Amino acid sequence: MIIQLDQNITGAQLKKLKERLKELQYKTTQVSTQYADYVIGVGKKEIDIRSIGTLPGVRDIHRVSDDYKLVSKKWRVEDTIIKLEEDIEIGTGRFALMAGPCSIESEEQVEKTIAHLAANGVRIMRGGVYKPRSSPYSFRGLGIEGLKLWHEKARAAGIRIITEVMMVEQIEDMADYVDIFQVGARNSQNFNLLDALGEVDKPVLLKRGISGTIDELLQAAEYIFSNGNERIMLCERGIRTYETAYRNTMDINAIALLKEKTHLPVIADPSHGIGLRRYVSPVALAAVMAGADGVILEVHEQPEKAFSDGQQTLSFPEAEVLYKRLRQAFELREAF
Ligand code: PEP
Ligand code: MN
Repeated sequence: MIIQLDQNITGAQLKKLKERLKELQYKTTQVSTQYADYVIGVGKKEIDIRSIGTLPGVRDIHRVSDDYKLVSKKWRVEDTIIKLEEDIEIGTGRFALMAGPCSIESEEQVEKTIAHLAANGVRIMRGGVYKPRSSPYSFRGLGIEGLKLWHEKARAAGIRIITEVMMVEQIEDMADYVDIFQVGARNSQNFNLLDALGEVDKPVLLKRGISGTIDELLQAAEYIFSNGNERIMLCERGIRTYETAYRNTMDINAIALLKEKTHLPVIADPSHGIGLRRYVSPVALAAVMAGADGVILEVHEQPEKAFSDGQQTLSFPEAEVLYKRLRQAFELREAF
């Protein structure tokens, strides 16, 4: 169960509440986020929740029997909207476009990408400076210096940055230069990293693990939330199946399902989802129709020369066509 506390609950009232739950054999965890204070109760006994809900200091109480609780829509009916700026919001009713290269490669590449995004009204730029690569001999990113350079140029153009963090130790150094921390598929269940991102006051885009279930994704998000950060979005980026015709299998089903299970925004990554440039557009459009709140795309001035993931990266002209179609698809879906 989720118990939302009154802002001015006294120490004595909180103690009493926890004692009462202990008597009922409920284990409690207190959660304080940037927005509210909660007590999560986990137990087996059927209880009349009104007996807890009427205790002084309790604002609200909800029964949530799933393993994930705070990220569930069962208690928070209103969807989470993540505000990056007055005019950049992510969540139900808005459409977020994020695009950029797989890896940040050079100053020139950053400038060209920013010019392309600005010309197309895309306000959030993706790019990796710490790259998880299957081979240790592949390009592994420009690191913090690359991020600083990118940040300076993006800020000047009013563009926000989403980039992957791979280790707890990187968070502090990166925080001043990042607008959204991305947790990659390979770190989707790195619980130490998730705990640490719970303590950061920056939004987090959490990708689904390569063979992660939807339930595991939601529980991973619960780590971040229960450590204090409510500003989370989930990302479907394809899973590994027996199919070998493409890199991953984009699980469009997951988008529809997640929109029902959680109040968090759901973002689609069709670039990794299918991994082949020629199919990125139709898959991206399908994801929007299934309910995605946004799409994150790999784009590059010369995809064939990209340091990583060129085979799934759109050229600028290809991306331009897709941005327009995605916006149209979103309008159409909202009109249904
Ligand atoms: C990426 O976004 O470039 C990336 C490495 O993604 P994923 O973690 O989904 O593989
Ligand atoms: Mn990539």
